[in-house]
Order: sequence, then C-alpha cells, then structure tokens
Amino acid sequence: MKFFSGAASSGTAFLDTRVLIVGGGPAGATAGRFLAANGIDCVILERDLGHVKPCGGGIPCGAFEELRLPESLIKRKVSALRVSPPRSAPFEIAFDSGYIGIVERGEFDCALREMARAQGALLTEGTFSRFLPPEDGRIVCEASRGGAPLVVRSELLIAADGVNSRVRASLQMKPMSSLYTLGAKLPVEGAISGEWCEFYFGRFAKGGYSWIFPGETSASAGTGSTSPGNLKQALERLLAEKGLAPEAAAQDLRGYRIPLWEGQPLVKDRVLFAGDSAGLVMPFTFEGIYYAMRAGQLAAQAIIEGDPGLYRDLWKQRFRSRFLLMKGLWRAFLATEAGTEALISAFRDERVQRTGIKLWLDKTSGGGSLSSFIKVLRKHVLF
Ligand SMILES: Cc1cc2nc3c(=O)[nH]c(=O)nc-3n(C[C@H](O)[C@H](O)[C@H](O)COP(=O)(O)OP(=O)(O)OC[C@H]3O[C@@H](n4cnc5c(N)ncnc54)[C@H](O)[C@@H]3O)c2cc1C
Repeated sequence: MKFFSGAASSGTAFLDTRVLIVGGGPAGATAGRFLAANGIDCVILERDLGHVKPCGGGIPCGAFEELRLPESLIKRKVSALRVSPPRSAPFEIAFDSGYIGIVERGEFDCALREMARAQGALLTEGTFSRFLPPEDGRIVCEASRGGAPLVVRSELLIAADGVNSRVRASLQMKPMSSLYTLGAKLPVEGAISGEWCEFYFGRFAKGGYSWIFPGETSASAGTGSTSPGNLKQALERLLAEKGLAPEAAAQDLRGYRIPLWEGQPLVKDRVLFAGDSAGLVMPFTFEGIYYAMRAGQLAAQAIIEGDPGLYRDLWKQRFRSRFLLMKGLWRAFLATEAGTEALISAFRDERVQRTGIKLWLDKTSGGGSLSSFIKVLRKHVLF
C-alpha cells in the first residue's frame, strides 16, 4: 500500500513507488492499467485531471477490442471518409466493414485513468518539475501537488507527458519537430455532416492538411502545417469551403502541436518514453491515440517481463515498418503539390481504398496487410 509521507515542518510530501508514470493521457493511463493489473506498484502523476486535449478523438474500431475498451465511450461511429486532393474534386470512401469510433477526449482519458485505478494504480493530480540527484540508485523527481512540493522516488519512470514533455526537456533531449495545428469546435448541422470524416490534403495549408471529425453534437475542425504562420487563414479557407463565416470558429479556438516521428529514443537509462513524448504519432494520418495506448501497454509489458529495454524491441517488431512506410508517404506528400495530388488521387481506386482502410482499421492484421497495401499503391504512384 502506498501513502504520502511528509515532514510537516517542510511541507514536502514524499512518495515511494516502483514505477512513476508522468502524465495520465492515453499512454500513461494505459501503462498504469497494465502494470497494476500485473501487480506492479505504480503511481500516475497527472497535471490536470480535468484536462481536455484538443483532438479529433478518432480511434479505429479494432483498438476497442484489442485494448478491451468499453464501446460505450464511442460518441459516434463513422464508416465513410470524404477526401479532397489539392486540385481535383473530392471523393468518398465507404468502409466495407468497421468504423472509426469518435470519443470525447475529456471523458475518454478519465475512463482510461479509472481503469488503471480500478486495477490498483495510485492516481494523483500533480505536476512533474525536474529530476533531483538519485538516491541509493533510485530516480528522484520533484513535483508539485495542490501547490505543495512532492518528491517521488522510483525504480523506473514512464514519460507519458505529451508533446511538450517536461521529462524530455529535463533530460536535455533534442526538442521534437512537430506539425502545428489550429482547431475549433463546430456544431454538427447543415454543411457539417455527422456521416463522415473529412480530410483536405494540401488544399488550404500548403504542405499541410485539414480535417472535420464529427462528434456527438459538435465536430472538431482544424488544420495542420509544419509552418504555423498561415494556420488561421487556412482554417478560414476551410470554413469558407463549408459556407461558414470565420466567426463560426471564433469560440474555443485552440492551437496545439502534433509530434513528427523521427525514430526518437524510446528508452534512456531507466526512463521509458510512450506516446507523444516519444513522437509516436503515425506520420501522414497523424493518428496518435491508438499508438499512445499501445506504447503504454508495451512499456508496461517490458517492465512486467523484468527487462525495460525490451520495450524498444517490442515496439520495433510491431510498428516500425508501418511508421517507416507512412513516413515515406508523408515525405512524398510534402515534396510537391503534384505529388500530393497523385498520392491522394490513388485512393480513388477501389483496391487502394480497401487495403488502406484495412491497414488503418485493423491494427492486428499482420505484415500481409502492409505488403498488400504497398503493392497496390505502387501501381498508382511512383515513389
Ligand atoms: C488537433 C489535434 C487533433 C488530433 N486528432 C486525433 C485523432 O482524431 N485521432 C488520433 O488518434 N489522434 C489524434 N491526435 C493526436 C493525439 O491527440 C495524441 O497523439 C495523443 O493524445 C497522445 O497521447 P499521450 O498520452 O501520449 O499524450 P497526451 O494525450 O498529450 O497526454 C499527456 C498527459 O500528460 C499530462 N502532463 C503534461 N505535462 C505534465 C507534467 N509536467 N506533469 C504531469 N502531467 C503532465 C497532460 O495533462 C496530459 O494529460 C490529434 C492531435 C491534435 C493536436
């Protein structure tokens, strides 16, 4: 049983645990859930238990089964995409089977943390600030909790504190390259359909993309680019395309970064990085929730098996080839408008759609799905 101990005179509380998890988003909460379910003592330190991450909340259906998540968290099931290349007319892709489940991030993250807590993880609201010198070979972290100092000693640390990771910065690791996004909430009505997710490639933001993901009553609309300067105009152009005035997005306008995967280190000494703090967002589709949860799970598995370094190998075996392929596509996409047009238009072909959607929705499909997708795509695009 863990408890906070402290010297009343100093006002500092102390906590000892085997694994400290910094961040209680999809990566941290999932790591905590699997560690605790396997009897590993762990603490999830989350800066703000009421935090709602700006996010489209789109998660492929296969993830719910694979990670045993309740489908009751899904606010809307979407089984069609509307895709706009930079120059030619938009087209639709209807899924043969499966769907994208749209979740509300505040509720979703909270449910994941509750699942961890139900397994025995200690969840506490507090902010990691920095590392202190190690004590008896244990990692020592300084945090703040309810305005008071908290010192946590642990054997291992999982950094799941997102794209602006303070843990990364404290270890003087290279800053993360990122895609800059500007998003807004719009009501699902009129031109904003609840039937499909919309993607616009290279259309409003040069070398970037825009999206509309419908939720229960509101849709998450946004635009992302590697150059942050033109995001506001790009969002306004997206609204204009939907026949909406710029003021339609004036409320709840939020900017955020999405990390670009560059093969960032997953393990440094006794610190394991999961989710956005390790740049684990799929290039090109910018899907991060599933990969954050799976990274948390694999980090936990490595610790459970008694070899934290195994995390690197587990991730590599499972996901590296997909990430490399999608990074290649992203590079091709970025290079020229003609490249973007050719690549996105390839998805007008029914076989490209079928293999691409299978790869996206069914994450348990093995290397066969990946090679089928590459094979059919090669016929359409030279890269
Ligand atoms: C606009 C936008 C739209 C997106 N849409 C989608 C989508 O539709 N589908 C999808 O799959 N992905 C989407 N993503 C990506 C997805 O949101 C992330 O990849 C995912 O949230 C990563 O999970 P995480 O747990 O690694 O990090 P986060 O979700 O960022 O969680 C990190 C947690 O750490 C906490 N924290 C931070 N610093 C500290 C600290 N110092 N101490 C303690 N706690 C701390 C934060 O409060 C937060 O709860 C989108 C991203 C953006 C920006």
